[in-house]
Amino acid sequence: MGDITLDTEVRFVKGVGPRRAEQLSALGVETVEDLLTYYPRRFGLRRQAQPMGTLRGDEQTATVAGEVVHTGYKPFGRRPYFECTLRDETGWVGVKWFHGGYLRSQIREGMTIAVSGKVGVYREAIQFVNPEFQTIWAPESTDLDKDELMPVYPAGGQLSSGRIALIIKKVLPRAKHLIPEILPGDLLADRALMPRADAVAAMHRPEDRDQWGQARRRMAYEECLLMQLGIALVRMREVSRPAHPLAGSEEIDRRIRARFPFELTAAQDRAVSDISADLSRERPMNRLLQGDVGSGKTVVALYAALLAVANRKQVAIMAPTEILAVQHYRNIRQYLAGSRVRIELLVGGQSRQQRQETRHRLAEGEIDIVVGTHALVEGDVRFSELALVVVDEQHKFGVRQRSGIRGKGHAPHYLVMTATPIPRTLAMTVFGDLDVSVIDELPPGRGKTETRVARRNEIPGVLEFVRSQLSADRQAYFIYPLVNPSANTDMTAARDAYEELAGGELKDFGVALLHGQMPADEKDRVMSEFRDGRVRVLVASVVVEVGVDVPSAGVMVVMHAERFGLAQLHQLRGRIGRGGDDAVCILVAGGSTDMAGKRLEVLEKTSDGFEIAEQDLRLRGPGELFGTRQHGLPELKVADLIEDFDLLRLARRDSFAIVKSDPGLNAPHHQRLRTEMLKAYAGKLDLLTGG
Ligand code: ADP
Ligand code: MG
Repeated sequence: MGDITLDTEVRFVKGVGPRRAEQLSALGVETVEDLLTYYPRRFGLRRQAQPMGTLRGDEQTATVAGEVVHTGYKPFGRRPYFECTLRDETGWVGVKWFHGGYLRSQIREGMTIAVSGKVGVYREAIQFVNPEFQTIWAPESTDLDKDELMPVYPAGGQLSSGRIALIIKKVLPRAKHLIPEILPGDLLADRALMPRADAVAAMHRPEDRDQWGQARRRMAYEECLLMQLGIALVRMREVSRPAHPLAGSEEIDRRIRARFPFELTAAQDRAVSDISADLSRERPMNRLLQGDVGSGKTVVALYAALLAVANRKQVAIMAPTEILAVQHYRNIRQYLAGSRVRIELLVGGQSRQQRQETRHRLAEGEIDIVVGTHALVEGDVRFSELALVVVDEQHKFGVRQRSGIRGKGHAPHYLVMTATPIPRTLAMTVFGDLDVSVIDELPPGRGKTETRVARRNEIPGVLEFVRSQLSADRQAYFIYPLVNPSANTDMTAARDAYEELAGGELKDFGVALLHGQMPADEKDRVMSEFRDGRVRVLVASVVVEVGVDVPSAGVMVVMHAERFGLAQLHQLRGRIGRGGDDAVCILVAGGSTDMAGKRLEVLEKTSDGFEIAEQDLRLRGPGELFGTRQHGLPELKVADLIEDFDLLRLARRDSFAIVKSDPGLNAPHHQRLRTEMLKAYAGKLDLLTGG
């Protein structure tokens, strides 16, 4: 067996044959380096082994090690079990694993194993039940005479955590010296970080919890630093592309504001001045405008658009669905009624000829503001002078689609609106290059929305309540996670619910079904009937479809609410209470566990979107928070965006300082850092920064 390197495939590692290599590959582990960075999920404490003769059956935790002198399997009975007997020089013990059939291939007579767990008595003999166990291949080299932290690895398929532990334990002494330091020495010293090779080793086999904490801190810092370096580099690149400065003036400001039949809220004013300042610069704006549904983001975006138009430039406004694009278009047209601003809609649902005409006029500079879906960025849409792109990510913050449109202009200013309350901490650091404005105040005259969590058995009462509300001339949404019934779940689907409600409980009120699979014109028809009150109850499936502003809708019932993320539910309930009246949102938890309902109670207590988002992030991770689409967030192995926030901030500061001093990371002491960064983020940098 020759020497190994970090790139050596695992199948060439001693103790790993082709079969195990395949099993490892299923876990994403191909090379020695992958193996070294396949970190334990947690640690179990294995107590120092004690002589069997000294055990008492007192239900205390103990560890023993000895030879397997007998094994047996009892597959029948209520609880099948696997058992064995262990012996050392001082005595013997029985060990039993209920449902332990899988152990037959792992524990055989003649082997030495250590078991660790509670000691009891069964038929007057000392016995362990369901203990942790470890195979001792070389008793003399295994440290059984002191307490030891045992790594527990994410296992999969045929590969147990114990087996992985063993493989890694064997490879560590041979590979540790191969692990290069990638951080410059002064940083290592200034931040008091453990050297990399030591840290990787201690991630697997720490002396104690404290050492593991140090190792973890080092690796988490490194991860954050690499991510932030990527962001810093892209930012440097972007800043070097000039944009059209869009100047404002008191006169322009006055004329724009005159378009709105209300005063902007203080929060809107703050966002407007952030944006105006950005637009006046020669460097492209890159700003995230966050605010709950109905907080008045569109109005702020329109302000920005009109500023661009006043500078004789073009603006593209993109919405995630046609319904929303049309709605934006209509709203904006109303604000602009009687002005000379030329605004057009461009969506797939239009006739080919109509679209062609719009495209032509766009290219000729005969349109000032175009509103559309992502169709705007696809194909051959050309602008004569695109200076501002506004993206409405109303429902989900998807980083991906953005890349396309930015290529269209010279270097357009860029504004993304989102109702996903991205925790401030996350926005600041992960989306490090996006500036953020938050609208944290609703326009005046809105009602309050009260949220209640109901259990499934309370549904009759809920329906009774909804009926009373409908009788009082209000409108209601019923939201379901599914459109069609599915064989895989017993969840009620919107389609079934619609038939039931329309034909039964709510038949006097005009019920309609709305879902994403309906043809566009039918959706439009249903929406307009709901808007003008002919339809009083809307049974809807997909979130996006209810992205519609109907002020008289005062009740929302979300069924199987546990299926949704908290942030998503928060956005959903933003649909009601848009008129002056108070509204009620009822979340029906259909889950089998009470946990499902418990989680939802956060929404009863707070209406602070950021707090809710942070809860979501904690409970379900960023993938959930940002929707099922590619969220573009980097995958972090060690760092935790919430728990390690301070570390992240530190890494952010350090990385920006590094890039400032060495923009290309060309200095010799930055070489390894550069290589690692590219390895981690090559091809992903645009995503990371919304490029
Ligand atoms: P968002 O895009 O954040 O969902 P909109 O900009 O669409 O919010 O505004 C929601 C509603 O509130 C619209 O009907 C809009 O006319 C109204 N609105 C916006 N800003 C104000 C304000 N400052 N005062 C009163 N009403 C406002
Ligand atoms: Mg809106």
